[in-house]
Amino acid sequence: MQALHQKTKELLESGTVQVIIGYGRGCGDRVRPVFVRNAETAAGLVWDDRCRQNLAVYLNKPEIKNLGTPAIVATPAAVKSIIQLISENQVKPCSVVVLAVDQGAVLELKDNASLEEYSAKHPVVFPPFVLKEMKTIAEMPLPQRNAYWQNELSRCFKCYACRAACPLCYCERCISENNQPQWVCPASHPQGNFEWHINRAMHLAGRCIECGSCSIACPVGIPIGLLTIEASRMVKQEFGHEPGLRCNADSAMSSFNTDDRETFIQ
Ligand code: SF4
Ligand code: SF4
Repeated sequence: MQALHQKTKELLESGTVQVIIGYGRGCGDRVRPVFVRNAETAAGLVWDDRCRQNLAVYLNKPEIKNLGTPAIVATPAAVKSIIQLISENQVKPCSVVVLAVDQGAVLELKDNASLEEYSAKHPVVFPPFVLKEMKTIAEMPLPQRNAYWQNELSRCFKCYACRAACPLCYCERCISENNQPQWVCPASHPQGNFEWHINRAMHLAGRCIECGSCSIACPVGIPIGLLTIEASRMVKQEFGHEPGLRCNADSAMSSFNTDDRETFIQ
């Protein structure tokens, strides 16, 4: 942690950045996002196994952008998010100082090439219980899987915390709030919930970098990230496209190939 404190202090003192997006002590045993603007308070930054929330979500928030050039303390998932955001023209290359803490050392990922190299060597690692849950759901017959999701989504009360926690959910106006035309029923009843979450999963297909922050954010414990992760994995299986690896990658859902096996697209 000392290397992180030293590095962030230097970045602030030299004026290279004006804010560090990192983790600090939260309530009880928790950590929380902090926005350090003063070199003297950089020693309050925390880095340990509890630091799982994907901080890349803050890069596009106007309140944070207004603070000046940021540095971000990045997990492997956050690095993937930044690559994906660069590929979608939402983050300018070299506009953020990315700090990856690796075995006590702080790596400064300065450009697209170093981000890509780091991402290729550091896959996002799921807790074993998540992998077990994914396997259980995948092995369910379709009617049982449908019933599983109907049951899970029936608890959703549309607080949109999952959306707020996701770095790839950055639309200024979400389909769930558009009422002319109204695509998604705003009520949190079974049909409205199903419409909202299936739309969100489709929008994140081929874009979700599997950080799990949406599941962590859900106050009623719906494992909502499993839907978007599965949608992204299907895109990888069918089209060989994996998000968060290349800064100049095409978008899976808005590109086509004239050699596509489906004739309607040719
Ligand atoms: S959908 Fe969930 S798991 Fe995927 S990138 Fe967004 S927050 Fe992370
Ligand atoms: S965080 Fe949970 S309850 Fe809130 S909208 Fe997302 S799935 Fe529904």
